[in-house]
Amino acid sequence: MRLKRILTFLIVTFLSISLVACNNKPKETDVPKKVTDGTYTATVDGHNGPLKLEAVVEGEKIKTIQVVEHQETPNISDLAISSIPERIVAIQGLGVDAISGATVTSNAILAAAAEALKEAGYDVEALKQVKDTVKKEEDITLTADVIIIGAGGAGLAAAVSAHQEGASVIVIEKMPKVGGNTIMSGGALNAVDDGSETAKANKDSTELHFQQTYKGGDKKGDPELIRTYVENVWDGVEWLQSLGMKFEPGTFTVLGGLWPRAHKPSDPVGTGFFNTYQKYIDSNENIEVLLETKAEQLIVKDNRVTGVVATGKSGNKVTLNANNAVIIATGGFGANVQMRQEYNTIWKDLGENIKSTNHPGATGDGILMAKEVNAELVGMEYIQLLPMGDPKTGSLSGNIEKAVENRIFVNKEGNRFVDEGARRDVMTAALMEQTDSMLWVILDSHDYPTGDEVNNFNESVNTLIKEGRAFKGETLEELAAQIKVDPNNLVKAIEEYNKAVSGEIKDPFGRTLFKDPINQGPFYAAPRIPTVHHTMGGIKINKEAQVIDVNGNVIKGLYAAGEVTGGIHGANRLGGNALGDILVFGRIAGKNAASDKNVSEAK
Ligand code: ADP
Repeated sequence: MRLKRILTFLIVTFLSISLVACNNKPKETDVPKKVTDGTYTATVDGHNGPLKLEAVVEGEKIKTIQVVEHQETPNISDLAISSIPERIVAIQGLGVDAISGATVTSNAILAAAAEALKEAGYDVEALKQVKDTVKKEEDITLTADVIIIGAGGAGLAAAVSAHQEGASVIVIEKMPKVGGNTIMSGGALNAVDDGSETAKANKDSTELHFQQTYKGGDKKGDPELIRTYVENVWDGVEWLQSLGMKFEPGTFTVLGGLWPRAHKPSDPVGTGFFNTYQKYIDSNENIEVLLETKAEQLIVKDNRVTGVVATGKSGNKVTLNANNAVIIATGGFGANVQMRQEYNTIWKDLGENIKSTNHPGATGDGILMAKEVNAELVGMEYIQLLPMGDPKTGSLSGNIEKAVENRIFVNKEGNRFVDEGARRDVMTAALMEQTDSMLWVILDSHDYPTGDEVNNFNESVNTLIKEGRAFKGETLEELAAQIKVDPNNLVKAIEEYNKAVSGEIKDPFGRTLFKDPINQGPFYAAPRIPTVHHTMGGIKINKEAQVIDVNGNVIKGLYAAGEVTGGIHGANRLGGNALGDILVFGRIAGKNAASDKNVSEAK
């Protein structure tokens, strides 16, 4: 029987006997008789701001529940916003579990629903007793040629690549959705098509990409891995295009990218990668993604990794046997404060006070699992912060910069303090020296002619202004008043900057990346803080994406790709190099795992 059919059967069985609403609906006597049909709304505090919910009651039944307005973090909150209202209606009750990783949003939705339904006349305490229970499933064992842990950018590149080589593939993902950190990124992907018109116009080459990556990482990266990346990444872009992914023409300079070589996908943020991979997965047999399935341990037999033990959604054991090989693609540990603190030697403190751009699943699981089978770890102390976090959440959303060339940073006093085209570690270290470690991104209407144009995170500046996350002034003085910085300092900073743009003076901070002056109102500002973004260290691999052990030997049957690996970016990763790295090494891992020696045949 084909793998897909077995999996479909298992998934259908699983779904049909799970998520069973208990029969403890409120007894007739519990439900007050005064439930009145109608539309009820309630507004509560969500994670980022007010969250408004609408409940429609018809025939004394909860007909629909819908979050109608909110400011929750895109991607992280999506599942809570779509599934919790759906479950409330399905079970006609409020005993719905929060979505892991979006607890605050989930609880806000439940609180708003309780308020609206109370208004309709329901006995809310009785509704809370109606539980959405998940029945524990049977333990299961599944087999495929290649087992991949993690459905982020590296994992799915590996999955498609392994499948194209003829392997059957199962990807397990611990979160309720695919995407990891990759889907939340701004989408910038550094790649050079040597000799192309774009490369010529930018005076760019794979050699310059190599040099900047190596030197930009303080020469701590492995030159062989860097070469592998820069020499294969354009081929990776063409591969994505062959799978249907679209990119905008030209290139831009992403924050800390040092050069205009970032390609921008046409779909918002990192969604283009996943739309592309999902389309492939949906239209092929023998390639599956199991969500809410968390890898716990690698299985090792006769000195070879042969599979993974995981925990399924209902807490059941899921054993995954790999005919050929296992690929770890679990991402970094930016969301694991304990690991950050354990390995950090560079920053003053990376405790709870420092927020992160990362999704909640970035907890370093793959690194810990690999360590247990003696994998070597490299560069674990190199943890990247960005000066670009949202002040409330640390996320990248709300960042109004479109490209490095057209904006400056000022501190609370209204003064510039750093070369805004510098490396990410340099800019963040400088930011940490400023009052309250916060900056204002300042730009003008060159990037937002009407204000309805969207930033790299698919948000229009007008929307951000409405939400109180960005500010606008027709003049610089008006903007300064809005953001409460000294207007004289701000005007002086921009006058001086504009002279550097026109070449009249050398930029006092040594900046070399410029495009337009900031002289065309309205002017815009948005606040930003330091935030943990990327963990450069991780599992040691060779250029074939094979995992290397503490004695320098290849661990048979085990590959790794993406942020879970170390040694490529050295001490500092250039902006735009992560999406290229996961693409290149994801593909290599997938291809090699597909052709790795079959463990049972080898016996
Ligand atoms: P990369 O950029 O390297 O692909 P991402 O953060 O985009 O990294 O993706 C890593 C994915 O791995 C995330 O979706 C994350 O939830 C998933 N993951 C992390 N740990 C586990 C685990 N123990 N089991 C299954 N999936 C995991």
